[in-house]
Amino acid sequence: MSGVVYQVPAMQRVQIRDVAKNIRRINKEMTGQDAPFFPIVQFLDVTLTKHMEDFILEILDEDEMGDAHGMTYPDEHLIQVRSDVYKQACRHQGRDRMTLAHELGHYVLHSNIGMARMAPVELIKPWRSSEWQAKALAGELLIPVEHIYDCASPFEAALKFGVTVEAAIYQWGIFRKEGLIR
Ligand SMILES: [Zn+2]
Repeated sequence: MSGVVYQVPAMQRVQIRDVAKNIRRINKEMTGQDAPFFPIVQFLDVTLTKHMEDFILEILDEDEMGDAHGMTYPDEHLIQVRSDVYKQACRHQGRDRMTLAHELGHYVLHSNIGMARMAPVELIKPWRSSEWQAKALAGELLIPVEHIYDCASPFEAALKFGVTVEAAIYQWGIFRKEGLIR
């Protein structure tokens, strides 16, 4: 969801990391795969639909989506992705893979939450912001801490995990700040 920020129940990064681990565990159980590269397209397209029967992934054209790359309606069990973004994600483009993971973040974190309460962005603490939470989930899911130790640098991480160098540097910085890596 781009642009609009909602105030949602607080979640710290460590809690969001656990949610990301849980998604990877579900993926492993359903597919038998546990590679560092998370198959976000396959997960939304096939795995999640099998896991939750009422989940729907819709691919829509630009004339229907406009500027939005993705939109999530947790209570309708619906994620919409713009077709060019979806195609790029299929081609392992880091930015577009991150967009899909971000929308999955809204879906798993913001179900059963009245998202109608919008507040001015500057008044929302990061950990209570729907956008911060979805971004954190996307980073933790695609750049998993349990595989970061195999990487010598953010550049290697970007290649291994199929994310942009910018995203890898950002997540690398978080792990470093927490003392998880040097
Ligand atoms: Zn969003």
